[in-house]
Amino acid sequence: TFDRVGVTYGRGNKTTTALVDFNLRVAVGETVALLGPSGSGKSTALNALAGFVRPATGTVRLAGRDVTDLPPAKRGIGVVLQSYALFPHMRVYDNVAFGLTSRRVPRGEVASRVAEALDMVGMSAYGKRLPRELSGGQQQRIAIARALAIRPSVLLLDEPLAALDAQLRQSMLAELQRLKEALPDTAMLYVTHDQGEALALADRIVVMKDARLMDVDTAENLWKRPPTSFTAAFLGGANLIPCTVGRVIGTSALVTFAHKTVSAEAPQPTVGRADWAPHSKALLCIRPHAVKVVGLGDRDALRAKVNAAVWRGATTRLTVSVHGLPDQVIDVDVPGATTYDLGAEIGLRFPEPAGVLVQCP
Ligand code: ADP
Ligand code: MG
Repeated sequence: TFDRVGVTYGRGNKTTTALVDFNLRVAVGETVALLGPSGSGKSTALNALAGFVRPATGTVRLAGRDVTDLPPAKRGIGVVLQSYALFPHMRVYDNVAFGLTSRRVPRGEVASRVAEALDMVGMSAYGKRLPRELSGGQQQRIAIARALAIRPSVLLLDEPLAALDAQLRQSMLAELQRLKEALPDTAMLYVTHDQGEALALADRIVVMKDARLMDVDTAENLWKRPPTSFTAAFLGGANLIPCTVGRVIGTSALVTFAHKTVSAEAPQPTVGRADWAPHSKALLCIRPHAVKVVGLGDRDALRAKVNAAVWRGATTRLTVSVHGLPDQVIDVDVPGATTYDLGAEIGLRFPEPAGVLVQCP
């Protein structure tokens, strides 16, 4: 539990406020991802829980116990970092055993727990190797085994896949999913700036921005009904189109933009979120894959001009400017490899409802 945790680095007139009034409760067995851009305070939050930084304000609790002033080694937390941080001169076995021997676990038990931890990451055959004799992905597996050997109640992972290449990242992600299933009583806090990793692993996602928690909810809720424009854009790169709210019935609204009226989902107002008042300004959040390209003759089509077309493999990402929407470009994903002349006029059609309403920041 983070209870109003604040962290400031430095002193005098050279201070950085890295975490402000951070509140979060992670349940037993739950995996929470801290997702946000570089410098938003994710690692600082993790380090405050691990005991590597001392909060200026607030308290950190583990199983109800205030551990704010407890040294890291006494917290029973497993930590995995992006840089692996293995001891280069120690063999894999001794790296994994490190946390156990320093806790004075009897030697016989050390051997069985190291074997168990190496088995969990599929590295049983590598105990005698030195870290430099392993690939990056293998080294990260050893770092995970080392964290697991102490049988932590809490496992902290700070961008553990960031140093791996894309293909390896994909297979390690699947392994982490499997590990999560194998450790049903372990709470995990997973720091990443990669939304794909957060979506794949987390029961809940915390979106961080400028040292603060912006939003927290299940991945599905944050994706389907983003509470803020920041989360809408960061999680999935949504289009956010300024619009005017018209009639609202229940959770359905009519909104107008570019002289066009479309239907939109209007999420129930929650605490701290205003109602969708008629005539008020809002943002219509539309995912790039939801927009369809149609002929200019298509009834209801919105006229747009292609500014860029970038092939991404399974889809082509078009960046278009919409007639009647000055200063606004929209991203549209069309299936396959499609070529367009730059400057070509196309029609756009939105689904029903066209998207979900998000409050203007
Ligand atoms: P993230 O992990 O989200 O990239 P961090 O928690 O590492 O962000 O950093 C948050 C802010 O604190 C940044 O502005 C960063 O420059 C600053 N910061 C992080 N660590 C230190 C440190 N040891 N000393 C001074 N400033 C730091
Ligand atoms: Mg970080």
